[in-house]
Amino acid sequence: MVVASVLKIVQVGNPVLRQRARALSRDEILAPSMSLLVEKMRDTMRDAPGVGLAAPQIGESLQLVVVEDRPELLEMLDPRERALRERTPLPFQALFNPRLAVVDPTPVTFFEGCLSFADFVMLVPRARAVRVEALDHQANPVILELRGWPARILQHEVDHLRGVVCVDRMHSRSLCRASEHARHWQGQSAEAVLATLAEGALETDPDLAHEANDNEANDALPLDKPPA
Ligand SMILES: [Zn+2]
Repeated sequence: MVVASVLKIVQVGNPVLRQRARALSRDEILAPSMSLLVEKMRDTMRDAPGVGLAAPQIGESLQLVVVEDRPELLEMLDPRERALRERTPLPFQALFNPRLAVVDPTPVTFFEGCLSFADFVMLVPRARAVRVEALDHQANPVILELRGWPARILQHEVDHLRGVVCVDRMHSRSLCRASEHARHWQGQSAEAVLATLAEGALETDPDLAHEANDNEANDALPLDKPPA
């Protein structure tokens, strides 16, 4: 693989992660400089490693995301955990000006992470299935119908274009260092983790209003960085 170059990934606290990214014109998408940016984002995502990267994460407030969940990454996972997460390969693609609609709002809760919130993971409920309309690298319309883990990846990345970070959607008591997740929580269902975390909490804790669901917690795979 020829590495175009690895860019610095900005961390939470940088204002660019809280801005609404701007849409790109057809001419901008087709410009040679945009092809180069996509290559750099691809290489940065693979180097991290991660399964998605949004332009604001490399400091560019543009409506562009790259995603990729390679079969090699999936093979490293336990087949049962892979099935629970509905984690299936997602070919590399660059998506411009994506619009996301929820197809199946059933909340599915797993630990996920973010390359801009390095070394932390958290339980985040996401819709089970989504539809994404976007433009590809040739500025042609593309439609993706996604469910399970690929749907989670796209929800996470499209959020970045709206200035939303996964901590805005998490069960706040579940936030943990990846190392602590591996030590204490790995392999437990989200429901079990949330029940344990609720012990000793104030009854007024707004986070406890969330319902846990039956999905199992997974390895601390950061989403941007699958284990984002
Ligand atoms: Zn992220």
